[in-house]
Amino acid sequence: MTQLKLEVEEALASTVRNSTAQYSIFVSCNKCAGVHETGISITMEDGPVEKHNIGSFYSGKSLPKTLATLSNQSFPCPLTGRQFIQKDTKQIFLVPIKGRPSENDPRRNRKAHG
Ligand SMILES: [Zn+2]
Repeated sequence: MTQLKLEVEEALASTVRNSTAQYSIFVSCNKCAGVHETGISITMEDGPVEKHNIGSFYSGKSLPKTLATLSNQSFPCPLTGRQFIQKDTKQIFLVPIKGRPSENDPRRNRKAHG
């Protein structure tokens, strides 16, 4: 069985607080020693400001269910074409997604002269 079933709860709340940020999940690969993007993204409050592994970020705390399942899940390695499971939560990373609206151009209101 190689079929993957990814159950990720997407918290798309309409009221977004300042401390809430979106993160992309990266996993260190034990087939090619690279780090692969899983395509999974999560929204969390008070997360790390930069790339951080979930093992040490949640040290002494319990992992959210979404993150806890990652260490039981197999991911495809794009380099070797094989599946791998990363059980070490220190090798699973949260990477902040920096989304900025591009319509914010301050020079847009410039007056035409003549
Ligand atoms: Zn790999």
